[in-house]
Amino acid sequence: MDPSTDFPGLLELNQKQALGVGTPLFGAMNATRLRRGMVDLLCHVCGKQTVRQDRYIFPVASGGLVTLQDGLQQYGCNVPPMHRACALRASHASPHLSKVSEPPLRCARDEGRLIYRTDVTPGLEAIAAALPQGVDVVRSCYRLYGDAFTAKVMGARKAWETTTLTRRATRGGRA
Ligand SMILES: [Zn+2]
Repeated sequence: MDPSTDFPGLLELNQKQALGVGTPLFGAMNATRLRRGMVDLLCHVCGKQTVRQDRYIFPVASGGLVTLQDGLQQYGCNVPPMHRACALRASHASPHLSKVSEPPLRCARDEGRLIYRTDVTPGLEAIAAALPQGVDVVRSCYRLYGDAFTAKVMGARKAWETTTLTRRATRGGRA
């Protein structure tokens, strides 16, 4: 546990990083690497910096709509972005992504608003139990996007739904 450099006044959870060691655990991300990726927009796959021209996410497989106080919904993403080449590699290597089978969506000018969560996220329950009580700990964060990119994500999700339903109907017809 260390004082947070990204969110002053809060503590953050740091896990040892061992780049290139072991098997990647999709779905059970290293908290430190995940946060670094979210804060610095580092590639989820290779860990290097992404630039606006080469920054992609999977809008169906990751994130979700967040309902704001005024009832409006905005897209929130809790997975770091990826380079296009890395995204394509991941879409074949990750069991989850290959099942969803969607094209990566290029991020727009909107980099999203960084928001942290201090509640316990799945997979970190054991660590959470060992932490001091009554102190806010940054456990995870996500980026909340504005209306334009939210609309883009909704469009991509709709297109994916249509494609997938058509594909399933065709497959069903043949069986
Ligand atoms: Zn990459």
